[in-house]
Amino acid sequence: MVPQEVAAALAEAGRRMDQRGWVPGSAGNLSARLENGRIAITRSGIHKGRIVPAEDIIAVDAAGQALKAGHRPSAETLLHCQLYRLFPPVAAVLHGHSVAATVLSIAGPIVFSQYEILKAFGFASHEHDIALPVYGNDQDIARLAALIEPELQADTPIGYVIAGHGVYAWGSSVEHAFWRLEALEFLLECELARRQMR
Ligand SMILES: [Zn+2]
Repeated sequence: MVPQEVAAALAEAGRRMDQRGWVPGSAGNLSARLENGRIAITRSGIHKGRIVPAEDIIAVDAAGQALKAGHRPSAETLLHCQLYRLFPPVAAVLHGHSVAATVLSIAGPIVFSQYEILKAFGFASHEHDIALPVYGNDQDIARLAALIEPELQADTPIGYVIAGHGVYAWGSSVEHAFWRLEALEFLLECELARRQMR
């Protein structure tokens, strides 16, 4: 069972992501860590702006298997499980398909420099060049997770993007994950606008 307050927090985050245009169609998926290695996650195929907490947030085990027969978790559940397994402080993971993340990730490497908002990720000042990892898209999520794993272990990034697909962000609560996603989306929008100025 998913506690009511966890399902409600994820539904609220989904609404806010929808208001910003980050989850078109049935895109995106949202999750939160539960006790005993379990994870609450959006079920497959629903609109993330209209999540019904009691129906659309389901529980899976640490390997991404639904705990209740007939429940089908998001297709990208394994990427969420991976972040919880690798990073114990992570308590929520949000994934969306914004225009900026989709377009910039196709164009090649993404490096943020000189942006004040980098401080939202714990950097002491704007004087850092921060790379946002871009991984090739793959419909085989297990294969994609295996490819990403050593890179995540080598260096914890501020988030990552999948080329032509979307962005993954995480935090120590659903609210914190949303803040970080918002900061990341702001950086991506700035970078897109900056390149369009050239
Ligand atoms: Zn996706």
